[in-house]
Amino acid sequence: MSHVRAFLSQAEIGARVTALAAEIRQDAGPGVPVHLVGVLKGAFIFLADLMRQMDGPVSCDFIAVSSYAGVKSTGQVQILKDLGQSIDGRYVVIVEDIVDTGLTLAYLQEVLRARAPQSLRTACLLSKPSRRKVGVPVEYIGFTIDDRFVVGYGLDFDEQYRHLPFIGVVQGVE
Ligand code: 5GP
Repeated sequence: MSHVRAFLSQAEIGARVTALAAEIRQDAGPGVPVHLVGVLKGAFIFLADLMRQMDGPVSCDFIAVSSYAGVKSTGQVQILKDLGQSIDGRYVVIVEDIVDTGLTLAYLQEVLRARAPQSLRTACLLSKPSRRKVGVPVEYIGFTIDDRFVVGYGLDFDEQYRHLPFIGVVQGVE
């Protein structure tokens, strides 16, 4: 396996995730059930840590969509695995690993908004603003990063590196 050069440590990520959980709870209000919708697979570790830092009632569900990267401009992002529960009337926070062009999130927000949640917000661990193609609202951003392909903490390169406790760049892929 190639070497991964870390630029966000486990401690830095942990501190930021704790702060994001507090912000989400504060905005929702005490006692309001927060329903986290994780986008598979990249967000599963972020969601697990975020959820464990949340006070008050919190539940989760997962959705998987086809990667926008492999889709022609005329094509649509497709839902590969849909939610297990209705989000009608619920306080929903989409939990995503990274917002790059914004196309995946724009699609997801449209699809989920049509299902009439009481509130729909989005939390992204990482954002690459220089790559954005569509404006998409993201209320909670962990870290803003440069245009580099990153791995670790749930993010993969060819299904590898998701288990790394830090976020870094694969040497040779930079
Ligand atoms: P978008 O639709 O915003 O362009 O794409 C978002 C998706 O692209 C993310 O959910 C993620 O799966 C993938 N992606 C974008 N940038 C990176 C990156 O630097 N590393 C990894 N592992 N995936 C990325």
